[in-house]
Amino acid sequence: MLKTGHEESGMEYPVIAPGQIDAFFASLELEVLKREICDIGHRLWQRAYVDGNGGNLSVRVARNLVLCTPTLVSKGFMHPEDLALVDMAGTMVAGGKRRTSELLMHLAIFAAQPKAKACVHAHPPTATGYAVCGIQPPSCMIPEMEIFIGEVAVAPYMTPGTYELGQAIGPLAHQHNTILMANHGVVAWGFGIEDAYFKMEILEAYCKTMLVTAQLGQLGHGPNTIPQPQMQELLAIKKTLGIPDPRTF
Ligand SMILES: [Zn+2]
Repeated sequence: MLKTGHEESGMEYPVIAPGQIDAFFASLELEVLKREICDIGHRLWQRAYVDGNGGNLSVRVARNLVLCTPTLVSKGFMHPEDLALVDMAGTMVAGGKRRTSELLMHLAIFAAQPKAKACVHAHPPTATGYAVCGIQPPSCMIPEMEIFIGEVAVAPYMTPGTYELGQAIGPLAHQHNTILMANHGVVAWGFGIEDAYFKMEILEAYCKTMLVTAQLGQLGHGPNTIPQPQMQELLAIKKTLGIPDPRTF
């Protein structure tokens, strides 16, 4: 288990004993999740948020286990039997193909943020452009972005697959559900795998809109921001949804 200072993470999940792992991996409960992960992978690929074998997805399924995508497979064309079951140290305990090399980053998020039930990592081009330039997208522009994401953190560049990348991302995941990874892409956590995927759609659409906004702003119009009293109303809605935001702490 990665040390984060938030070791209460995962207390609501059952512990699966070593002798039960194969049966658990073959259970109907996990079969449903495997199909859902494959479906989300296909949606990522269809929207060109993943390229080649890029991107990875994970779902926490037990206090000691995470279900994740395999390495070196297009996320648009996965089969349920390709998925891997890993423990909280990153060791694969069941599955058809070798687990994603980015798993340590996912585990760091699960360890740091008890609310995280699933993670999606992808390379949506516009948001990744912001990450390459180290630009945090502006805020207070679009209600949906403020409620479901908020201010996006920008994590420093670290070599993919390393422990150091996980250590850079984990602490940010406590206050941000969506993180730009410098010179790499985006990682988001959610209350389920589709919820984590929605963060990817919302951020990519927002970054496209901000590019257009910047261009139109050069004509001397705007950008206009949401007034502070109405921003407070949005943050109040966000709090009722249980979505963390440093501005509401
Ligand atoms: Zn990546």
